[in-house]
Amino acid sequence: MTTKKLRCMVCGRLFHDGQGVKIVAGGKELYFHSKTCALKFFKSMVLYIDREELEKSVSATLKEFENRLKEVEERSRKRIEDML
Ligand SMILES: [Zn+2]
Repeated sequence: MTTKKLRCMVCGRLFHDGQGVKIVAGGKELYFHSKTCALKFFKSMVLYIDREELEKSVSATLKEFENRLKEVEERSRKRIEDML
């Protein structure tokens, strides 16, 4: 069985499909051999986003993770209450 080889879009390194980071964004499939390369790409991409759009995106993403943290905290609190 041969696995497809992909090329990291940041550093050019070849890697096997199933490894690395694959992200679909802006109607394109993006491939990175490591999280570091993915982060480099996204840090550069942020510079091209319209400032107002970026502010909206940052706020929405922050809210999403804040809600996730709250859920986790809520769940662990319930677990402790159940034990009492
Ligand atoms: Zn890379």
